[in-house]
Amino acid sequence: MKIALMGIGKIAVDQHIPAINTSPDWDLAATVSRHGKVEEVEAFTDLEKMLAARSDVRVVSLCLPPVPRFAAATAAIQAGRHVMLEKPPGATLSKCYALEALARKHRVSLFATWHSREAAGVAEAKAWLAGKTLRKMTITWKEDVRRWHPGQDWIWQPGGLGVFDPGINALSIVTDILPDPIHVARAVLEVPENCQTPIAASIEFAHPHGAEVHADFDFRKTGEQIWSITAETDQGTLVLSEGGAQLSIDGTKRLSATEQTLTGEYPRLYARMAKLVSHGDIDVDVAPMRHVADAFTLGQRIMVDAFVE
Ligand code: NAP
Repeated sequence: MKIALMGIGKIAVDQHIPAINTSPDWDLAATVSRHGKVEEVEAFTDLEKMLAARSDVRVVSLCLPPVPRFAAATAAIQAGRHVMLEKPPGATLSKCYALEALARKHRVSLFATWHSREAAGVAEAKAWLAGKTLRKMTITWKEDVRRWHPGQDWIWQPGGLGVFDPGINALSIVTDILPDPIHVARAVLEVPENCQTPIAASIEFAHPHGAEVHADFDFRKTGEQIWSITAETDQGTLVLSEGGAQLSIDGTKRLSATEQTLTGEYPRLYARMAKLVSHGDIDVDVAPMRHVADAFTLGQRIMVDAFVE
């Protein structure tokens, strides 16, 4: 199937283009970008022009930040194209619901992707946790914003989510692997005095059976980067680390070295998109977004030092 990619920025170059190019399902037929191009692929700077000129392109994958992505998704769906959304699926929950309703109306597929759910250890972690009693879960997502998000001013603007931009990846895994629903009970958000979004967040969740569930997100971590989830249960302790790519249970590693690479996430997303399109299905799960929205609603704000890149 012919696919167009819009927003030729960091994630498009790092993951989407290699995943499309190595997929048996997809042919990268057009790009839409104000600055970027892909060799030997027709380049547009305007989405409406691409939609008008390339009726053979049935699918559009949107790699823009969440705020500008909504208008692009709306235009693509209204033009009858199937749409794949980078995470988070929208800047607000209402925008996610609106896109889902629009996709149903126009009978096109819509896939709100959560790449971290495709990490190598996630499916086994989910299977292992099923039927066990959770006692404590510790979610730690600490990375250096200067290293992973250079020049991305949008992250600090309204709708940019700040540290929840990576933190929502952790929440996408947690909402997938936990057998019971949790909700935000308390949150503390540290917001730099010159930014609109938090640079760090600490969240306490309520669990239906009283398990302690806590998340710590921090964008100021230099040195060792931490993306890990530890689940202590009545039958042992599970650790998902490296963003879900590594899994150990009671200290024993469960995945081989090849399974532990990060590179499988995007090929698996594109394979799933191919299935959704061929079955005419929609996959929009806003559970991770809901926790972020709740943390923003309930969170206590603390103003911290200005962020200077
Ligand atoms: P990015 O490089 O800053 O932006 C991607 C592209 O979006 C830009 O190159 C630009 O495209 C377009 N864009 C930015 N602001 C725009 C605006 N106001 N109006 C129209 N287009 C705009 O960001 P990214 O890191 O690729 O992230 C994009 C999305 O992918 C985010 O939702 C992020 O959460 C998600 N994501 C990022 C990573 C990561 O490691 N960076 C990992 C997974 C998911 P053109 O210059 O091409 O027009």
